[in-house]
Amino acid sequence: MSKDNQRCNFCGRSQGEVKFMLTGAGAYICDDCVKRASEIIVETQKSATSHTKDEISRKDIPTPTPKEIKTFLDKYVIGQNEAKRYLSVSVYNHYKRLSQTSTDDVEIEKSNIIMVGATGTGKTLLAKTIARLLKVPFAIVDATVLTEAGYVGEDIESILTRLLQVADYDVKQAERGIVFIDEIDKIARKSDNPSITRDVSGEGVQQGLLKLLEGSVVNVPPQGGRKHPEQKLVAVDTKDILFICGGAFDGIEKKIAQRMNTQVVGYTAIRKTAHIDRNNLLQYILPQDLKSFGLIPEIIGRLPVLTYLEPLDKEALRQILTEPKNSIIKQYVKMFDMDGITLRIDEDVFEYIVDKAIEYKLGARGLRSITEDIMIDAMYEYPSSKETVLHIDIDYAREKLEKSKTYFVAVG
Ligand code: ADP
Repeated sequence: MSKDNQRCNFCGRSQGEVKFMLTGAGAYICDDCVKRASEIIVETQKSATSHTKDEISRKDIPTPTPKEIKTFLDKYVIGQNEAKRYLSVSVYNHYKRLSQTSTDDVEIEKSNIIMVGATGTGKTLLAKTIARLLKVPFAIVDATVLTEAGYVGEDIESILTRLLQVADYDVKQAERGIVFIDEIDKIARKSDNPSITRDVSGEGVQQGLLKLLEGSVVNVPPQGGRKHPEQKLVAVDTKDILFICGGAFDGIEKKIAQRMNTQVVGYTAIRKTAHIDRNNLLQYILPQDLKSFGLIPEIIGRLPVLTYLEPLDKEALRQILTEPKNSIIKQYVKMFDMDGITLRIDEDVFEYIVDKAIEYKLGARGLRSITEDIMIDAMYEYPSSKETVLHIDIDYAREKLEKSKTYFVAVG
């Protein structure tokens, strides 16, 4: 075949119309078609790898079972079995949701959580411990700083700023994350009745929060704070973000008691009330108690998993002092050890610390400040001394605490 009769088998152009022609076994391809073919190959490979990457990242999410999650929590948090079980299941289901493929009509809906319990019983600790385990972005935010748009304080959207920051501004990652909103009770409206006057810190904020919980695309200020006109906002879809809320709900026991008293009518009811544990009414909490406290029904509806934390008794406080993986005492032992000093503390010192925490009504938070008061002098002196052992007995502990600030504030 003459050169002029050679035509590209792809575009049909002749040798004269192209820069050069490649010849194969009875077939021809021009330089233009080679270039185009090469581009197509690169593009196809690119989309194929990004697809596999996405698939890998979905598969990559390790899915600890609810029992494994609870076992992990047990290492750091004492007691609170009920809350741990609820949290474990919710987090597990969150993972399942993230890995679901949309091939059928059954879509697993997310179940945001609300935890009710007195301050210092371990709500934040539970949230933080979960965060250690998870391979999804996790942020802790405080509801007290939030106000309705246009008022002093932070916009609701700033809740997601933290999550974006934790996810290194990877929006796709942030959209699979978990947010712990602390002190949710502080945005309750002041009464059960819808407000007549404006309630800047209450109902308006709840309405704003509802938007996030419901799952919608929200414009988030990437640096937090208020939305400035010049700040470029990041669109975040909250559909797959799991929200865990926590609050002390001070006084909610009264609402629970009221409800239970009005409910109990008749003989069987009286028999039932005989078993009511009046010291721990939180265990009977129902969604309607949250409503009586001042959360709007729409918010309650979006927080379908309701659980509670137990008040910490003496035994629990004693355990908290030494048993968790990074317990307060273990931390002090480690600190002294780093200076080559062996710290020994007598058993009755632990009892003493717990008794004082209860006496001063400081709960678990008090354990650390009381221990700190006992240790501060030694922590100051020992690193520059030649001592290799520090032995704390009850007399030493008593002497140090009785000259401390905590003691004066508590005893007056
Ligand atoms: P909350 O968020 O409920 O107000 P935190 O989780 O902040 O309480 O608890 C304060 C501190 O008390 C924690 O950092 C931890 O040292 C200790 N603590 C409280 N509850 C527990 C618990 N159940 N197990 C272990 N430590 C606890």
